[in-house]
Amino acid sequence: MLIVMRDHASPEEIQHVVDHLHASGAETHLSQGEVKTVIGVIGERELIYTLDMEGFPGVSEVIRVLKPYKLAGREFQSEDTVVKVGPAAVGGGTFAVIAGPCSVESEEQMLTVAKAVKAAGATMLRGGAYKPRSSPYAFQGMGLDGLKLLREAGDASGLPVVTEVLDVRDAETVAEWADVLQVGARNMQNFMMLEELGRMRKPVLLKRGLSATIEEVLSSAEYILKGGNRDVILCERGIRTFETYTRNTLDLAAVAAFKVLTHLPVIVDPSHATGRRDLIAPMSRAAVFAGADGLIIEVHPDPEHALCDGPQSLDIPSFEKLSASLTPLVEFEGKRR
Ligand code: PEP
Ligand code: MN
Repeated sequence: MLIVMRDHASPEEIQHVVDHLHASGAETHLSQGEVKTVIGVIGERELIYTLDMEGFPGVSEVIRVLKPYKLAGREFQSEDTVVKVGPAAVGGGTFAVIAGPCSVESEEQMLTVAKAVKAAGATMLRGGAYKPRSSPYAFQGMGLDGLKLLREAGDASGLPVVTEVLDVRDAETVAEWADVLQVGARNMQNFMMLEELGRMRKPVLLKRGLSATIEEVLSSAEYILKGGNRDVILCERGIRTFETYTRNTLDLAAVAAFKVLTHLPVIVDPSHATGRRDLIAPMSRAAVFAGADGLIIEVHPDPEHALCDGPQSLDIPSFEKLSASLTPLVEFEGKRR
């Protein structure tokens, strides 16, 4: 951390800052010019993050050079993390395709979609049992019954299943039925939930918050990793911008940036990112070339009658077509499915 003092800060002000830092257990290095004084601060990450020096008399600016995360960073681990989920894997050259409806609606729907997406090359099945809906009047998901139907469809098709933990109180129950625990965009900074999932030994799919920065996503991943759970998959699902034609704005630069900053696998959700069926295929292909390790795509056997997110859901033939078109692109990127 660098503390830049105001021009002509008094010797007393400088000394007061230095005394406080020493009393807190940090080391300091002073660089003093005629006008400016800069204090370099060295100490453990945990200590530096407790120091709030902005309000001290004579302090002009505090520049943090340590990232707020460590375990998630490439500096900590240079090789890619591969998250293994039963027969499937994400990262380290394996491209995952997670497909399924926004929400679990019935046994028939789930069995139909599971069998079809598996045959088309999907490696995991998605389906929400607890749905985060903007309106309390919208379909809220089938809850435990939905988890059971998702599990049944996963077992019947041989696909591991991914579903959202909407409330930390349901974490244990969801973990009993699902293979991957999804943290939705609205819960990305639910730190108590992240800590709870960090204590669990099930892979976590962490979706980017609606207005979360890249650094905030990685800091949230850090909560899970810090608890000892090293199986974290990041998901770019679009962010809120001024654009309204698309549901969100797919930030593919973030995908490329994540690949530089972290060893964790990164997947893309073109369904929630665009909200539009016609944009899923082109954005899926763009995601492959941005360096993504996989995709999570909403697929419904009958999108027009879907209880949730029908307009952005692919029907089965469209998914089959898209999935087939991805293989050469994945291979071009030096990855495999
Ligand atoms: C979902 O994947 O069903 C979902 C609700 O996504 P998000 O949290 O990204 O909005
Ligand atoms: Mn959805």
